[in-house]
Amino acid sequence: MNRLAGKVALVTGAGRGIGAAIARAFAREGAAVVLAELDGETAERTANEIAATVDGARVLAVPTDVTQPASVERAVKTAEDRFGALGVLVNNAGINVFCDPLTMTDADWRRCFAVDLDGVWHGCRAALPGMVERGAGSIINIASTHSFKIIPGCFPYPVAKHGVIGLTRALGIEYAPRNVRVNAIAPGYIETNLTREWWDNQPDPAAARQATLDLQPMKRIGQPEEVAMTAVFLASDEATFINASCITVDGGRSALYHD
Ligand code: NDP
Repeated sequence: MNRLAGKVALVTGAGRGIGAAIARAFAREGAAVVLAELDGETAERTANEIAATVDGARVLAVPTDVTQPASVERAVKTAEDRFGALGVLVNNAGINVFCDPLTMTDADWRRCFAVDLDGVWHGCRAALPGMVERGAGSIINIASTHSFKIIPGCFPYPVAKHGVIGLTRALGIEYAPRNVRVNAIAPGYIETNLTREWWDNQPDPAAARQATLDLQPMKRIGQPEEVAMTAVFLASDEATFINASCITVDGGRSALYHD
C-alpha cells in the first residue's frame, strides 16, 4: 500500500482490460489517477468502480483519443489542473490490427499506427515538457511480446509494437539526464477483451483458447493485474535506476524455443 503516495498518474485506454487494472492498482497504491479513455462512458464507469472500491481513491475520467495530439494534451492539462504535476504516464491504449501484408489496406496500416505507435508518441510528447522541466517522471509504454517475436498473420501490429520499444529506448536515453525514466512492459497473452475477441473470431473459439493455453509454459494465460503490478513497480521509487528497459510479463513463453 502507498507505494505511489503523492504521485499523479495518467493511464490511456484505462476503461477496461490492462489499462483499467493499472488505474485500479495505482489508486490502491495511493496515486491520483486520470483515466484517459476513448469511450467516455466506459471511463466514467471504471472510475466510479475504483472510487467505490478503493478507500480514499482520487480518480478522474477524461474522454481522450490518443490518435489526436490535442486530445492527449487536454487530458494532461486536465490531470494537472485537478491533481497537480503529472509524475507518471502509462501509454496503454492499443488495438489489434491483424492482416495479410499484401491484401491489407492503407487504412488498416494507418489505423494500427495511429493508435499503437503515434498514440504512444502523443502521450510522451504531451507529458515530457513538464516532467523534463521538473526533473522527475516515469513513462511506461505498454508494448507486447509482438515487440520482439513474430506470429504470421498478425501484420502490421508487431511492426508498430517494435516501434514502441524503439521509442521507449530513444526517449529513455534522451531524457535520462533530466531524471525522466521511460520504460516498456511487454505482456504475453493476457485475459482481456482483446484476446477474447481474437479467440471468438476463430472458427472454433474453444479450441483456439485451448491451443493458446497449451502453448504456455505455465499452462495459463496472464491476468491484467499481473501486468498492473509491474507498472506499479516501474512507476514507483523502487525502480529509480530502471530506464530505457522492457520488462516481459508472459509466464516465460517468449523464452521457450519450442514445445
Ligand atoms: P482492451 O481492448 O481490453 O483495452 C484497450 C483499451 O484501449 C480500451 O479501453 C479502448 O477503448 C482503448 N482505446 C482504443 N483506442 C483508443 C484511442 N484511440 N484512444 C484512447 N483509448 C483507446 O485491450 P488490452 O487491455 O488487452 O490491451 C491494452 C494494451 O496492452 C494494448 O496496448 C495492447 O496492445 C497491449 N497488449 C495486450 C495483450 C493481451 O494479451 N491482452 C498482450 C500484449 C500487449 P474502447 O473500449 O473505447 O475502444
